[in-house]
Amino acid sequence: EIAALIEQQQAVSDWPGYLFAVSDNIHKAGLLLNTPIEKGTAIKSAFNRGLPATLQELDRSGLRGRGGAGFNTATKWRFCAEETAAQHYVVCNADEGEPGTFKDRVLLNSHADQVFEGMTLAAAIIGAKQGFLYLRGEYLHLYDKLQAVLQQRRADGLLGDNILELGLDFDIEICLGAGAYICGEESALIESLEGKPGIPRNRPPYPVTSGYLNQPTVVNNVETFLAAAKIAIQGGDWFAGFGTEKSAGSKILSICGDCAQPGIYEYPFGISIEQILADCGASDVLGVQIGGPSGTFISNKEFKRQLAFEDLATGGSFIVFNNSRNVLEIVQNFTHFFAHESCGFCTPCRVGTSLLKKQLDKIVDGHGSSGDVVELESLCQLVKSHSHCGLGQTAANPILTTLQRYPDLYAKRLKTIRYEPGFDLDGALE
Ligand code: NAD
Ligand code: SF4
Repeated sequence: EIAALIEQQQAVSDWPGYLFAVSDNIHKAGLLLNTPIEKGTAIKSAFNRGLPATLQELDRSGLRGRGGAGFNTATKWRFCAEETAAQHYVVCNADEGEPGTFKDRVLLNSHADQVFEGMTLAAAIIGAKQGFLYLRGEYLHLYDKLQAVLQQRRADGLLGDNILELGLDFDIEICLGAGAYICGEESALIESLEGKPGIPRNRPPYPVTSGYLNQPTVVNNVETFLAAAKIAIQGGDWFAGFGTEKSAGSKILSICGDCAQPGIYEYPFGISIEQILADCGASDVLGVQIGGPSGTFISNKEFKRQLAFEDLATGGSFIVFNNSRNVLEIVQNFTHFFAHESCGFCTPCRVGTSLLKKQLDKIVDGHGSSGDVVELESLCQLVKSHSHCGLGQTAANPILTTLQRYPDLYAKRLKTIRYEPGFDLDGALE
């Protein structure tokens, strides 16, 4: 079965993206990475304190979802716990597909026990007996190792029936994705867990109300569970003492691209982009893509900005581009990526992302007119506002953010209107 999956993955993992060196080296460890917790201590702390009080600690910590969107974790767990249903479920979203993001792979390789402990904590709080780790298909190489960690936890009485004799029954199953980026979207992931094609559901209802098998389900990112386990031990005030008022704690980044030291870095929220670039040995920087293709491309005039939910948010992706890179080629690569990964369910995204790709290629290849740029922008707005899920709603971001920052680059490629100093692209776009 596994051999067949590998073959299947080789067929699907063919995205010709930027082949930057990525590194599993942890260059900078902060509150989560520098001292891993001892096995079982988060569960014991939670039961000693009491589960409602532990949920309050989580609330006090201000922890927000680390997948990128930043929904308050305690609120999510509370909503789910309050639902009356036959079963509740915990799902760890390890379908880390955002180009440039690889921190969950490293966390699962080095801190799997702590992630599983965080999932067990969530199960205790929401009343779940079953959990799933939905593992990105391309991370198949971690599968056996993670199974061994789970097996050891069962042997240590940390999973299974009557965990640590606390009356808690909970176990975790690992499910492999098959290479579809869309399955990182939580409702598509749940469909896939149920054995169906990964097509996003309508939300609301959110998974906390109607998730796996339409039962209340908490879906969180790997890093969120990791942080929750530590908070259960150290307390909410400890965590909230780092970061900013709206973005408590730290963020783990996967940094790649044009820098001397790609790898994993953990920073308190509020850190400046400038500081991160200095730490990873980046020089002569053109811009940084923060939050992957669906995030924001910032130019070198914006490096005083901060990494925080209130300024620049990211699920973990931080790609550095130096001045040897061509912005339009980067945008082209990301736009092709979205067209390739659209699940095809809704027309605005299925057709729209292909049209975006076609229109952008025409302009970048020097065959476009100023009217084509106007059309490109209005197509972007259409795909953004009419698509069914986050993929389509953000697929135009690379074009829109660069049209805004680098209008001259687009103007210089136009065929029918030769670029001349003083060309008014803004006027043309209006
Ligand atoms: P979202 O804001 O819709 O939801 C975030 C989370 O909060 C979800 O778990 C959702 O169920 C929950 N939620 C939101 N409102 C709720 C409510 N009223 N009641 C209960 N629960 C509620 O964001 P999303 O569409 O789930 O995720 C988008 C994010 O994913 C983007 O920020 C993007 O950067 C990120 N992303 C990450 C990766 C990666 O590999 N880490 C890949 C692609 C996208
Ligand atoms: Fe599928 Fe794209 Fe529609 Fe999302 S927006 S449902 S990925 S076609």
